Amino acid sequence: MKAFKDINKLIDFLEIENINQKKILKNSSFPLFIPYRLAKKIKKNDLTDPIFLQFVPLEKENKTLKNFSKDPLKESFFKKGNLLKKYNNRALLITSNYCAMNCRYCFRRFFEKNINNNFDDEIDLIKKDKTINEIILSGGDPLSLSNYKLKDLLLKLNDIKHIKKIRFHSRYIIADPLRIDENFIKILKLIKKQIIFVFHINHINELDIDILNAFKLLSSNNYLLFNQSVLLKNVNDSFEALSKLYELLFEKNVIPYYLHQLDEIQGAMHFKVSIKKGKELIKGLRENVSGYMIPKYVKEKPFEKNKTLIF
Ligand SMILES: *Cc1c(COP(=O)(O)O)cnc(C)c1O
Ligand code: SF4
Repeated sequence: MKAFKDINKLIDFLEIENINQKKILKNSSFPLFIPYRLAKKIKKNDLTDPIFLQFVPLEKENKTLKNFSKDPLKESFFKKGNLLKKYNNRALLITSNYCAMNCRYCFRRFFEKNINNNFDDEIDLIKKDKTINEIILSGGDPLSLSNYKLKDLLLKLNDIKHIKKIRFHSRYIIADPLRIDENFIKILKLIKKQIIFVFHINHINELDIDILNAFKLLSSNNYLLFNQSVLLKNVNDSFEALSKLYELLFEKNVIPYYLHQLDEIQGAMHFKVSIKKGKELIKGLRENVSGYMIPKYVKEKPFEKNKTLIF
């Protein structure tokens, strides 16, 4: 997969003028990483482009603010190896530290990379804890694993009787929709548990015909598809942006699940949308689109037993 990792090459590619170049952060410790197929969708020399804003480091990231920390969710507190059990019936498995991209607002940007790839310890923990009936494969991105590794993991989970559901949380599809191909479906077919996908798409510009076809392949095989978005300033904090995204997703059998209030991570301050504005947006959606297209507007609080419903 082709991607930009060198900021100067990206600046050339996007034909960013000198005056705009000053706003770009060139030496970020969370590196630039944007797949070519996403970079191609960015309007030239446009610092307001919703894809540009999500992936290109800006000087603004260097601003710090009290409250914006390196581990706002206190996830390290809940971690046993790479298994995170915060909620009663479900546990989240960090399957990989790799994503197909680096999103500037990511709350895992400071996480250490120390994934052992056989998951033996985690599988043992899951086997012992019969209160867990759903495993959430997250990351990084579970689809960044090879089919070989993924198959091995899925088969191990398939053998655990008290696990009823396996859920993928993934953003990979917008970088490489062909990752969801017949070979991948073949692996899924070996699994007897219910399989659910939660995609992570924030703006309609991230979608295109190849991605919509990948949704189709999954939904025609009867997998349930959902989407979660993060509410991001100047990216999707408008009625128009959200309603367009949800209309298209729903048309492709992808149900809007969550709209997340931004996690207060260092470097992401400039993405913050006020709760007041977020509530107004949800109200606007309720008044103008069908109820089944409205996501739950939620916030993650470190020691709560579930995500907190804002509105
Ligand atoms: C978000 C999250 C889940 C899943 O919660 P749902 O409300 O079921 O989508 C599970 N575990 C952790 C640690 C999470 O952050
Ligand atoms: S895909 Fe998700 S986990 Fe990966 S960098 Fe983006 S927001 Fe973070």
